[in-house]
Amino acid sequence: MKFDTEKLKKAKVKIRKTKAGFGLFADQDFKKGDFVIEYVGKRLNREEADNVGGMYLFEIRDSLTIDGKDRKNIARYINHNCRPNCEVEIKKERIFIFTKKDIKKGEELGYDYGKDFFKEFIKPKGCKCGSDNHLYK
Ligand SMILES: [Zn+2]
Repeated sequence: MKFDTEKLKKAKVKIRKTKAGFGLFADQDFKKGDFVIEYVGKRLNREEADNVGGMYLFEIRDSLTIDGKDRKNIARYINHNCRPNCEVEIKKERIFIFTKKDIKKGEELGYDYGKDFFKEFIKPKGCKCGSDNHLYK
């Protein structure tokens, strides 16, 4: 997918309570492939990331991690989902979230956090994505 990172327009989204705590919901209709939001935060090298730890570290590459724990990073409210309607694209060392299907206003947004995150943080509590068939065992 090609896009100009300077031209991305932030979409309308809303934070709401869910069974999993909080979630991010569409506050407009989306078409497949629409830009939703950027995952932003402090840029850390490997050593800094290891020291910080936590659930909001997003590794871009081996020596570059974004720490998205700040509440200003609205994207951190997007939950993992085993049948995701969004996906992540890394471009120019930034993290962008796009829709992977049409989404109606009011639907919760979710993307696949990946196997490692799932095993470490989600599996111990049980995945609350609502799917019958979870991505990872
Ligand atoms: Zn699940």
